[in-house]
Amino acid sequence: MKLVIASNNAHKVREIKEILSGCFEEILSLKEAGIVIDVVEDGKTFEENALKKAEEVLKVCSADAALSDDSGLMVDALNGAPGVYSARFAAEGHDDEANNKKLIALMQNVADSERTCRFVSAVALARRDKAPLICRGTVEGRLLREKRGENGFGYDPLFFYEPAGLSFAQMSAESKNAVSHRRRALEALRNELEAEAEKKQ
Ligand code: IMP
Repeated sequence: MKLVIASNNAHKVREIKEILSGCFEEILSLKEAGIVIDVVEDGKTFEENALKKAEEVLKVCSADAALSDDSGLMVDALNGAPGVYSARFAAEGHDDEANNKKLIALMQNVADSERTCRFVSAVALARRDKAPLICRGTVEGRLLREKRGENGFGYDPLFFYEPAGLSFAQMSAESKNAVSHRRRALEALRNELEAEAEKKQ
């Protein structure tokens, strides 16, 4: 079985290959598969966006399956925002600095006890011969009042991960990736694929 990952993000591609290598004979990024595609993420949920992208990639490739993920931050005091708009929260065009600034301002008067939030990742596997599989992974945290740490990307500097006593941007990539929403979604997907394979035997 050959899988195409609907991403060219080197970090995501490496992580996905590492977690799913036992489930597919060959795993290629979009670039490695020679595919150029731009899918508009206009769904209301992470799952809708991930599935749309996986299905559109599957249509234009020769692989047996296509995998896509969609992720973001949900803040309880903001009724789940920025949610599916995480990348373009402050404005179109994906500006991490502006997104963090807007979030700090919106949360300025929110009490410490009300600052719960979570990163969410939905992964969708579209397949030629079977129904798609969709899995969600989450990691719980608290929204900081100001940025801490220099690592990572996106909202990592504002996301305080209590078990480590650090923000995601203060953790090494390795420690963050070991507990991340994306890893948890991918591991759930791997479990489903392994359960399917066991049933077949
Ligand atoms: P995408 O699904 O990778 O396109 O992520 C959408 C947006 O969610 C990113 O641009 C970030 O703002 C935010 N995001 C998703 N995952 C993370 C993470 O692990 N750390 C920080 N921000 C994230």
